[in-house]
Amino acid sequence: MMKKRIAIFGSTGSIGTQALEVIEANPHLFEVEILTAHSNDELLIQQALKFNPNAIVIGDEKKYARVKEALAATDVKVFAGEQALEEVAAFDTYDMMLAAIVGFAGLQPTLRAIENRKAIALANKETLVVAGDIVMRKAVENKVPVLPVDSEHSAIFQCLVGESRNPIEKVILTASGGPFRGKKPNFLLNVKRDHALQHPNWSMGAKITIDSATLMNKGLEMIEAKWLFNLRPEQVRVVIHPQSIIHSMVQFEDGSIKAQMGLPDMKLPIQYAMAFPNRIPNNFPRFDFRKVNTLSFEEPDLKTFRNLALAIESLNKGGNLPCVLNAANEIAVWAFLRNRIGFLDMTDVIEKTMHYVPFIENPTLDEYLESDGEARSYAASLIQL
Ligand code: NDP
Ligand code: MG
Repeated sequence: MMKKRIAIFGSTGSIGTQALEVIEANPHLFEVEILTAHSNDELLIQQALKFNPNAIVIGDEKKYARVKEALAATDVKVFAGEQALEEVAAFDTYDMMLAAIVGFAGLQPTLRAIENRKAIALANKETLVVAGDIVMRKAVENKVPVLPVDSEHSAIFQCLVGESRNPIEKVILTASGGPFRGKKPNFLLNVKRDHALQHPNWSMGAKITIDSATLMNKGLEMIEAKWLFNLRPEQVRVVIHPQSIIHSMVQFEDGSIKAQMGLPDMKLPIQYAMAFPNRIPNNFPRFDFRKVNTLSFEEPDLKTFRNLALAIESLNKGGNLPCVLNAANEIAVWAFLRNRIGFLDMTDVIEKTMHYVPFIENPTLDEYLESDGEARSYAASLIQL
């Protein structure tokens, strides 16, 4: 059998490093073709020496010379800069892109890969939040599968196997509730970055960890689900499930509900997307029903976690509003991580930016890019960055 040649965009991140563990454990199935990082040259060099890819990209051009020199004795091709991400995405030498860059920066390389007819294993949810209609349309036009890596969407996808003729009534995304579940605004007012970075069930990159604490992550995932599974906004629901054992559910037209379950471990959805339609044996810890006797569920508190309410508003209105929400959120999270604004200020920045940027009902790609830029500069001006 031919090995699947994987291009990992964002290989130095939480998803990227776990994907490399999956590849390392399954050398008969996968090989590494491309690796990319933004600024972590040390780890990128180590990864390149270990996995011997055809090409790598370091986003930060100032680090090019160091990386090039460290790999001088190898035949790994080294590129640098934002543009290079798109150039290597257009290579013919790989089979699947694992889109694991964080944020808006992941959009253009993923679009290039789709135009290049490469299968996409999608972790980068912001790509679909910003321009889901365009991304999914191009995927259909180019007959490219977009396989979800996000655990909730992987769960839904797994529930849909064998159900292609059966319409979905609704999907139910589960949310752990994050570190501040049950807290009220007077508590959140004083929350600091280090506390918000402590997620109860998952260990992830900084941006998504903050998004999980504000519940923005679940809002982004509702929008992601709409595009991945071609749903109307009212078909996408959220329930808080603190144990993170049920990863999400699908309800069909007969009322039957399918759930996908397991211990929270991102390597499972990563390897499912990479090996689809096959399941790969592994020795990850198993869930044991004898050890957990309660799976509980509650409504999300939209009055306290207003980021989720704003995301739902953008899901319902559509157009460029999710793109604006995402851009303002990226700026707000960036500022919060640097202790420049408080936890609740993030919501204000996003809400004001959503009111400021003019609404466009059916944006072109250029209009999405403009909306993103406008939202970023307005959000930055609010924070006085
Ligand atoms: P990390 O912050 O851990 O990693 C991000 C990766 O993207 C790194 O390789 C980083 O490089 C690179 N990167 C950052 N900024 C840029 C940029 N401007 N241009 C190019 N590359 C960049 O993020 P995660 O791995 O946690 O998340 C990645 C994506 O997957 C996100 O969209 C997230 O929402 C999604 N996701 C993550 C989950 C998780 O468990 N972590 C779960 C579900 C979804 P460098 O290291 O050099 O900075
Ligand atoms: Mg998720």
